[in-house]
Amino acid sequence: ARAQAMEVDASPDITYEDIGGLESEMREVQEAVEDPLNHPEKFEAVGVDPPSGVLLHGPPGTGKTMLAKAVANHTDATFIKMAGSELVRKFIGEGSRLVRDLFELAEQREPAIIFIDEIDAVASKRTDSKTSGDAEVQRTMMQLLSEMDGFDERGEVRIMAATNRFDMLDRAILRPGRFDRLIEVPEPDNEARAEILRIHTEEMTLAEEIDYEALARETEGLNGAQLQSLTTEAGMFAIRDDRATVTMDDFRSAREKLIEDANSDTPAYT
Ligand code: ATP
Repeated sequence: ARAQAMEVDASPDITYEDIGGLESEMREVQEAVEDPLNHPEKFEAVGVDPPSGVLLHGPPGTGKTMLAKAVANHTDATFIKMAGSELVRKFIGEGSRLVRDLFELAEQREPAIIFIDEIDAVASKRTDSKTSGDAEVQRTMMQLLSEMDGFDERGEVRIMAATNRFDMLDRAILRPGRFDRLIEVPEPDNEARAEILRIHTEEMTLAEEIDYEALARETEGLNGAQLQSLTTEAGMFAIRDDRATVTMDDFRSAREKLIEDANSDTPAYT
């Protein structure tokens, strides 16, 4: 069960080029996570400690996991992902045990990047958690904090986390020496949507009429994950119609379908 709770990727293949928009966010992640691993001497020369932990926050499907994977790729670090929900366990001590295992594994595999997704599952304000396993969740969070407090900022293990519910977080995890660098990852704007669509259609056979700017305008409100689904679905429309080329109409039909699916009970694309 322990192995299943973590996703370990010795060399993730996501690069910064795979990420649409988020230019300034990428720069911030590079500065806070990549530079300390690739150029520790810069921090030594100036005499400052790099940030302890980096928290990515913002709406779902916007590329937070991609950012963490890309930075692992560019530092040749092992990517170790754990979902916060996995740390919420029934049995006493099980969550804390997992946290210890997580940090132990990272040390064995260094350079390594620990990525805790949905950290709010274990680090919400007390008043907001109404579960009966409350005390146990609290214990798991304390274990996480103590691992971070005993952590060497100059070492070769970096910690990142992500949340869609920043407002729910217990401020204790944001103190200096813990998640002390916050990076907001927003929904894509027009320009970012056009870029994300370009990235996800790179391998597709497209009609010449394809106008990314128009598609970006017509997909306002869709996040990166939904835009990716849109490109796949557009391809499906072309196939159904026995065509090898994907047209603007295919993208528009795909958009209609996505919106319909989102409004119905059918499982949506994630
Ligand atoms: P969640 O909060 O739901 O875990 P997330 O912000 O971590 O979401 P990712 O898992 O990084 O989102 O993105 C999911 C998928 O959506 C990616 O695998 C990618 O295909 C697509 N995607 C999301 N954002 C972007 C982006 N900025 N550029 C390109 N693709 C994106």
